Amino acid sequence: MAFQFITVARKAQEIPEIKAAVANGDITVSVAKRITGVINPENQQDWLVKAKTLTQRSLELEVAKANPKEAVQEMIKPVSAERLEMKLGISHQLDQKLRRVRDLLGRKRNGSVRWEDAVEAMADLYLEKHDPVRRADRVLRKSAARETESVAKLDGEVEREAGDEIVVRKLDALAAEQVSRRVNSASAGSAAQVSERVPAESLHRVNLRDRGRCTHRDSAGERCGESRFTQIHHVVPRAVAGGHAPGDLRTLCGFHHGLVHETLGP
Ligand SMILES: [Zn+2]
Repeated sequence: MAFQFITVARKAQEIPEIKAAVANGDITVSVAKRITGVINPENQQDWLVKAKTLTQRSLELEVAKANPKEAVQEMIKPVSAERLEMKLGISHQLDQKLRRVRDLLGRKRNGSVRWEDAVEAMADLYLEKHDPVRRADRVLRKSAARETESVAKLDGEVEREAGDEIVVRKLDALAAEQVSRRVNSASAGSAAQVSERVPAESLHRVNLRDRGRCTHRDSAGERCGESRFTQIHHVVPRAVAGGHAPGDLRTLCGFHHGLVHETLGP
C-alpha cells in the first residue's frame, strides 16, 4: 500500500488531476495506481473518465491494450513471516536471458537451481558492482589492510629506538596525520577554493556509516531511512568554507535535503 501511494504521488506531480480525483473520492488509490503507467498530460482526460466509469476488469484490459507492459501488475506481497511473493511481467527477450543465467548458475553449482537463486545471484553481482555502500566497505577494508601493513613496518623501526609508550604515541600521531592529510587534501583552502567534489575516501566513509540511507530524524526521533534518491548534504554550507570531512557530511533523501536547505537558507 505504501508503495502504491509513492507511485501515485510521483505521478500526481506530473498530472495534478490524479491527486484531485483521489482526494475527491472519484477514484481509489489502487485505481489511480492502475493508470499511472499509461496516463500522460495529453491523454489524461480520457484515462480519468475511464478510471471513473469502467469496472476494474475492463480498466485493466484497456490499460493492457494501451501498454502491454502493464498487462501484469508488478507486485511484491508477504505470504508468511519470512517469505514474499513477487509477480511481474517480462518480455521473451528477458525470459531468454534469465534462462541463460539459471543454466550457467546450475552448471556452476552442479545441480538444478530455482528462479529465486538466479535472481539472487544477479542481485548480488549488481550490488557488488554498483552499490556505493558495498564499494565503500571494500575500498576502506583494503586501505585499512594497507595501513596496518605500513604501520607494522614502522612499528618495527620505532621499537628498536624507544619504549612502548613512545611507540604508541608515535603511531597515534602518524595515524591521525595520515587521516587528516587524506581527508583535507581536497578540502583545504579558502571558501572560494573549496572543492566541489567530495574526496572519494570521505564519500566512502559517509556511505558506509549511513548505509546509503537518509539520516533525517523527525521530531519523534524516527529515522527516514529512504534509500532511493539520496544525496550528500554538507552540514556547513560550502559557501561558508564548509569542509568535506566525514563529520561534515550526511546522507539525506532529496525531500529532506530540500527541507534542510529551506530551513537553513540556500
Ligand atoms: Zn529523508
